[in-house]
Amino acid sequence: MMIQRKFFLLLVAAFCSIVSFCQTINIIPQPAKLTASKGKFVISKTTPMVILSESDRSTALYLNNYLKSHYGFTLAIVKKSGSKSIILGSNNKMESSMQGAYRFQSGNSGIVIKAASSVGTFYGIQTLIQLLPLQKSASLEIPAVEIADEPRFAYRGAMLDVGRHFFSVDFVKKYIDYLALHKMNYFHWHLTEDQGWRIEIKQYPKLTSIGGFRNGTIIGRYPGKGNDETAYGGFYTQEQIKDVVAYAGERFITVVPEIEMPGHGSAAIAAYPELSCFPDTPTINYFPKDCTWFGDTTGKKVQQTWGVFDDVFCAGNEYTFKFLQDVINEILPLFPGKYIHVGGDECPKNNWKKCPRCQQRIKENGLRDEHGLQSYLIQRMEKYVNSKGKTLIGWDEILEGGLAANAVVMSWRGEEGGIAAAKDKHQVIMTPGSHVYLDHSQTKQEDSVTIGGFTSLEKIYSYEPIPKELNEAQAKYVLGAQGNVWTEYMAYPSKVEYMIFPRLSALSEVLWSPKATKNWETFKTKTATQYRRYNIWEANYFKEK
Ligand SMILES: [Zn+2]
Repeated sequence: MMIQRKFFLLLVAAFCSIVSFCQTINIIPQPAKLTASKGKFVISKTTPMVILSESDRSTALYLNNYLKSHYGFTLAIVKKSGSKSIILGSNNKMESSMQGAYRFQSGNSGIVIKAASSVGTFYGIQTLIQLLPLQKSASLEIPAVEIADEPRFAYRGAMLDVGRHFFSVDFVKKYIDYLALHKMNYFHWHLTEDQGWRIEIKQYPKLTSIGGFRNGTIIGRYPGKGNDETAYGGFYTQEQIKDVVAYAGERFITVVPEIEMPGHGSAAIAAYPELSCFPDTPTINYFPKDCTWFGDTTGKKVQQTWGVFDDVFCAGNEYTFKFLQDVINEILPLFPGKYIHVGGDECPKNNWKKCPRCQQRIKENGLRDEHGLQSYLIQRMEKYVNSKGKTLIGWDEILEGGLAANAVVMSWRGEEGGIAAAKDKHQVIMTPGSHVYLDHSQTKQEDSVTIGGFTSLEKIYSYEPIPKELNEAQAKYVLGAQGNVWTEYMAYPSKVEYMIFPRLSALSEVLWSPKATKNWETFKTKTATQYRRYNIWEANYFKEK
């Protein structure tokens, strides 16, 4: 039986190699307009790649890297145009003014990719990659096709939490590659958490020497079956950060750094206890009783379990503001993008209620209550971030007690925050836990430990980033959406890959493709090819049994 099956597959393969229309077109995200025609173009190692402007050189090198990794050869990059070549041109007049729009044409005489700027030619190359055969070969047959494409949303993002678990520079780059392969353009890097501070700040070295490491981690799902009693940690040097940001830049991906404030600050407080309202109260006093602590229980410590902790930055102490501004000063030169994310989520107010300095601040500034104090902190930080020419992003809690003037809201607790902010003429990035949290289980019967919740591939695919509550004018404030990868239960790269694939592929189509072209049945058919691409990338993924 097995032999017969193999023989049949061989026959199919032989047939495919002589009949060009055998290769079906399975591009994710689905292009805006696609017309298949007769003919094909065969890329071999003698095919030249023409760059009409120097700005496309890094994209040409990118394709060469991809070809070398997966097919074992590269193409000569030349500047003189000719037929039977791949031509990249990024100085064209385009009908679409959308950043990233491109035109792609393949046929017997070659491949031409046209765009108004180099980001468009880069996306054209991504489309070419998705037209490549799925098996290694010295001649790569590309079907004849005509594509006019552009993204639907300007912000197409994914977040990675490196605080709960730390991921190497190599894996962060791989993650960025996955985004690029899906024509996504923002990488939100969640760099600080209760369980670890992951970015070197030279003025505050203890942030990483102390805040970068914890003595142990709970075992299994919260509250855990004990503690693994193993020291855990890591951080990125500023040189590594620059390297990652440059790597992302070559893939037209902007890195958005997140420095959490005023909550989720236990690791920073472990390094600099004066950031806390109560510097002398040990961390163990805030630790949940049903979780197991390991090691020294005195003083401030990096957290060993997940959740939300009462020990937050003191908003009444000027030291906190000096610290936060110093940190921002150091990260500004590392991240050339326009956004700085300051968290702002899940900040319990219990310590602030008891803290004389916080209460004094509320009184002096005529603030309504502790929520007003949170707004005071975020608004003050926003002014600072704005004074440096950057735009502040925060989770939707920054709406509580009054929104900072031109902050961008990431709506995570459902869509309500996003709707309110858009109605209030604030820009919004939709990241509702109900649809785009990639840490949720992918099956009803959870097959691995997850944070809980069930978000199927179909549910992500069905997501519409513009809530029906918004009219056309208000909808313009929705910049796009983002998938979030919180890593409480993802200790290794393979688990991250298992959780993001294939859901990230579905999200990319939500963000890129015109609403009218979205079709779940078609997408489902395309996933068969996409699984084979994951195999080529050597990426782990979830597959419905
Ligand atoms: Zn305080």
